[in-house]
Amino acid sequence: MHLVPLPALLDNYIWLLHDDDGNAIVVDPGDAGVVEHALAARQLRLRAILLTHHHHDHIGGAAELHGQHAAPVYAPDDERIEAATVRVHDGDTIELASPRVRFDVIAIPGHTLSHLAYVGAGLLLCGDTLFSLGCGRLFEGSPAQMLASLDRLSSLPGEILVCGGHEYTETNGRFAHTIEPENPELHQRLQEVSALRAQLRPTLPIALARELATNPFLRVDTDAVAAWCRQHGIDSDRVARFAAVRAAKDEFC
Ligand SMILES: [Zn+2]
Repeated sequence: MHLVPLPALLDNYIWLLHDDDGNAIVVDPGDAGVVEHALAARQLRLRAILLTHHHHDHIGGAAELHGQHAAPVYAPDDERIEAATVRVHDGDTIELASPRVRFDVIAIPGHTLSHLAYVGAGLLLCGDTLFSLGCGRLFEGSPAQMLASLDRLSSLPGEILVCGGHEYTETNGRFAHTIEPENPELHQRLQEVSALRAQLRPTLPIALARELATNPFLRVDTDAVAAWCRQHGIDSDRVARFAAVRAAKDEFC
């Protein structure tokens, strides 16, 4: 299976997966034109559309693509996603014949309440819940919900590739450095990220294991993040630590 991040809109990635026989899936097609161009350039047939959450920059092209290609649209059970043709829920699996791939559906509320992740083909397609060096804003869920969702994602195999929905890594990295200025793996990642972005190349996908070592939102149980929280007057449970780091990020940008 081939994986291609398609830059779209301001800083979104639409994830394109395809096999060697020209069968393709797209995840979170915010812009139908970007997908049509990529399909035509690679001579691919669109077989399925997966949506992680209802925000327009993730679903804006889904209805048009469904109309053009008659590909099923898998989506959360949320009436705000009118383009859905197959509603999926936590614990479901999606079995596709072409390309031959199977995705497990995981509910990850926090950024929005009906947000889903799709796990399959060695990939974690996680929309706006987990980014490289960051996590999504809490538009609908509570810090406890988002932390529980990130805990579920953290328990996946370390080699799985995180495919988040935005190229936010440079800004996230500047913030992560304020939380853990002494983390050598973060320093290494920041150098890599700035080299990639200098060439306008994507910083995603990234192995989950590297995020566990560098992303402050996955590291609320570490001594380093606990120390930062103590310096900021938070000396209680892990949900409070997560909430404090998330609030600091909201202030940061
Ligand atoms: Zn969103």
